Amino acid sequence: MAEGLLDEKRPLAGFLDADGIRDSVDSLRAAFAPRPGVRVLHTFAAKAGSLIPVLRLLADCGMGCEVAGPGELRLAVEAGFSPAHIVLDSPAKTRDELRLALALGVAVAADGLGEIRRIEELRSPGSPSVLGLRVNPQVGGGSIGATSTATAASRFGVALRDPGARERVVRAFAERPWLTRLHTHVGSQGGSLDLIAAGIAETYRLAEEINSSLGTHRVAGIGIGGGLPDDFADDEARPDFAEYAAALRAAAPGIFDGRYDLVTEFGSSLLAGNGFIGARVEYTKDAGGRRIALTHAGAPIATGTVFMPAASPLRVGAFDEAGRPRGGPPMVQDIAGPCSFTGDIVAHTRKLPELREGDFVTLQDTRGYHFSTPWAHNSLPRPAVYGFAGEAGGLRFAPVREAQSLDSVAAESGLRQADALTGLHGRH
Ligand SMILES: *Cc1c(COP(=O)(O)O)cnc(C)c1O
Repeated sequence: MAEGLLDEKRPLAGFLDADGIRDSVDSLRAAFAPRPGVRVLHTFAAKAGSLIPVLRLLADCGMGCEVAGPGELRLAVEAGFSPAHIVLDSPAKTRDELRLALALGVAVAADGLGEIRRIEELRSPGSPSVLGLRVNPQVGGGSIGATSTATAASRFGVALRDPGARERVVRAFAERPWLTRLHTHVGSQGGSLDLIAAGIAETYRLAEEINSSLGTHRVAGIGIGGGLPDDFADDEARPDFAEYAAALRAAAPGIFDGRYDLVTEFGSSLLAGNGFIGARVEYTKDAGGRRIALTHAGAPIATGTVFMPAASPLRVGAFDEAGRPRGGPPMVQDIAGPCSFTGDIVAHTRKLPELREGDFVTLQDTRGYHFSTPWAHNSLPRPAVYGFAGEAGGLRFAPVREAQSLDSVAAESGLRQADALTGLHGRH
């Protein structure tokens, strides 16, 4: 607020802690500390922070990038990741997307046997792309259905326990010497470490089965996905990367013995704790015995939170109009957003010091999935995002994304084609 980044005219902004993100990468690296001969490529799942400066920071930390779709692939290239450190994972890749990935030399995880046939058609013999197949170990879902990917009927990868599926996968590898990697991602959020480790262990067993049936070390790498669940309770991440690696080592010790290259794809957990939203309280009101603070932080910037509130119980901080923490006895309040639908509430029945018009709230633990993936409901403009580094007193800020202008909202909403429909006549 002292920098003028949040005020009445700028009532909403996202903030990212650059030092914190570097620390998270360090702790991921330490958890997978190289054992002799084990090569680990840590990629960042771009969807968790799809802003080019965020991706470039992670590239600068030596990470690779996991992308789903042509938009994320473009962002990863613009951010400066070398193609050899990019993994394309989307479930519905077009021929054009595959052609581009193969031409760049990006690794591709085919989502099914149909896609393997397409890659076979498109690849040139000397293609530098590492090519693999995504499998679904069907170990079951976590506590959040919408983000669980290893359920029996999940739409991702080849469902390994379906009749005949394992045999078909082994045959696909037998017939195609260019297939050298298996890939899995058990789910994002809501999966226990044991569930995630069980899914990866199952994928490891399949790699062993393929290699022993082919009599060669054909599957040379395993993509183990991301999905470390976020912890919304406080600033410590629990479980952390070290606990994750320990669970994996216990479930599949062979995965660390140097015979397999590993690719991780953490997203959310690398940004968790490293971002927050600041939002002005525009009004307060009482309805049905409930106090409601009407803010600008709602579904457009915290879409997942609004639609699955139990899955991301964000911590809320209360500050006065000068940015000082609000004191006073706790009072039950809803923190509502600006959208014109009833459910636009980012925090339900929270006990906070009484908020007043002109106050600010912070939503902690918000990060990429929040402000980098805005939802254009009510044509609300995207807020600015800033990075920061340093300590209180000596904080430095840098713009990561500018606030969207109303000109840009109008342009994105077809301003140039304004007459498209009035000028279109069929029966009239
Ligand atoms: C979303 C996703 C990830 C990252 O999940 P997080 O929960 O953010 O760690 C990794 N791999 C794939 C294939 C994904 O779809």
